Amino acid sequence: MNPIGVTCRGLVFIYRLEGYDVVALAGVDLDIEAGQSVALVGPSGAGKSTLLSLMAGLLSPSAGRLFVGEHDLAKATAAELQAMRSTDVGVMLQGAARNLLPYLSVEQNVRFARNGAVARAELPPPREILTLVGLADPDRLRRTPGELTPGERQRAALAVALANNPGLLLADEPTSQLDIGARDEVLAAVEAVRAAGTTVVVVTHDPEIGARMNRTVTIRDGRVGAEGRSGVDYSVIGRDGSVHLPTEVLDVMAPGTLLRVSVQPDGTVLLTPSEAVPHAGAGLGREDQR
Ligand code: ADP
Ligand code: MG
Repeated sequence: MNPIGVTCRGLVFIYRLEGYDVVALAGVDLDIEAGQSVALVGPSGAGKSTLLSLMAGLLSPSAGRLFVGEHDLAKATAAELQAMRSTDVGVMLQGAARNLLPYLSVEQNVRFARNGAVARAELPPPREILTLVGLADPDRLRRTPGELTPGERQRAALAVALANNPGLLLADEPTSQLDIGARDEVLAAVEAVRAAGTTVVVVTHDPEIGARMNRTVTIRDGRVGAEGRSGVDYSVIGRDGSVHLPTEVLDVMAPGTLLRVSVQPDGTVLLTPSEAVPHAGAGLGREDQR
């Protein structure tokens, strides 16, 4: 397995519905280095799952660029995307059931996930993958998904995502709706994948997962809002100069506040609210969005 990096440049995704469009991603700039582990966090509806589905090649960008390793996903054909998923990218969608065939045993599910792949000699045997996720005992690997506990089912879904020894693992809320014991088991399995050098991108609300990844990237309103490193949060300057300030800034500066931006000699930047225009911007901003 060679770890695979991801590059997003001005990535836009629009769900086109009858009569109106939903802009789910409004220009995401993000670089994930090969071998890095990233937690995507942020409020519900922010665009996290959409971003993950784009990286998985399950959706195509509406605009902007997206590279997954050597693959240019804005240009790739359906066949190329399929080939990418069968060799380079493992995907664990939200809800274990969506990743598993209900009438196959755990081991058969892993073998089946591999069928699409070109036979590669270097692929580890399914039992090795099941050992990694802690499902290798003969009794468990013969069970069907319905016969597993929720935590085991989630780990079986992880094994399926890992079936082709991908360089990039994408997982959407792998620990949601699990009790603490099951959560810790899934956490340990994801951690083992990360430690093996695979690039890992996890959408999560679980701070424990976030703490174990190299980076935490907050998605807000379809953009990268903030970055966390070692427990410290940073705002990120977008390529167009835009910055998402932390929401607590709204407690001291109302939307529409005019800020004077001045670069200090020591390299810090001062944001000074203008007192002269108390409410001027707030209404305007709203109108502009219509
Ligand atoms: P998150 O995973 O951060 O909760 P999503 O990526 O699921 O966010 O959703 C981002 C936005 O796109 C939301 O406004 C959501 O309502 C919308 N959305 C998500 N999936 C669909 C879909 N299949 N059809 C239409 N709109 C969608
Ligand atoms: Mg989601």
